Amino acid sequence: MRLLVASHNEHKIREIKELTAHLDLEVVGLSEAGDYPPVIEDGDTFQANARKKAVEIANLSGQLVLADDSGLEVDVLEGAPGVHSARFAGEPASDQKNNALLLEKLRDYPLEQRGAAFRCVMALAMPYGPVWLTEGVCRGVILYEARGEGGFGYDPLFYVPEYEETFAELGSQVKNRISHRYLAMQEMLEVIERVKKPEKSS
Ligand code: IMP
Repeated sequence: MRLLVASHNEHKIREIKELTAHLDLEVVGLSEAGDYPPVIEDGDTFQANARKKAVEIANLSGQLVLADDSGLEVDVLEGAPGVHSARFAGEPASDQKNNALLLEKLRDYPLEQRGAAFRCVMALAMPYGPVWLTEGVCRGVILYEARGEGGFGYDPLFYVPEYEETFAELGSQVKNRISHRYLAMQEMLEVIERVKKPEKSS
């Protein structure tokens, strides 16, 4: 079964491919799939943006589409950068600038006030059909400086106390067992199983 992922973010696509590698699913990113116009992510919530991306691309492509809208929510910043995570420091989007701005905003906060969560909302849409949403949350702490080479986005600043490492230090195997994306995907795989069933019986 083919699953088109409504994203040009190669990091997300890679993680979604890793998270589904054990399954009979052909995961294809938007850049691989053809020439699709960008979806304007103007929603106020991860749910709204994930739904919009999945529905627009499903209707354009005529295929089953998965979308991932995700970001970092920092407690003392009242949930910011949230849906603005990718462009926190403005255009053009840059992980380095986003991380620098985050460190600047948290400069005066002690470690115990640097709690944060990564949130991922996934939407699965059938062309002109139903939409399903799932969600995953992973909590951690924002460090004072970047640590580690792996991952992407805010990973080098996101420290997971249980593992005593940042997402960028943990490596993809561990990140893919605990991350917000993993948790949202686990729930979504149950939905995909149900969606696949009618195919099998026909
Ligand atoms: P989206 O493409 O609008 O969903 O924005 C996602 C943004 O959230 C990314 O560009 C990163 O800045 C951040 N983000 C989401 N998931 C992760 C992750 O797993 N690690 C690090 N940053 C992430």
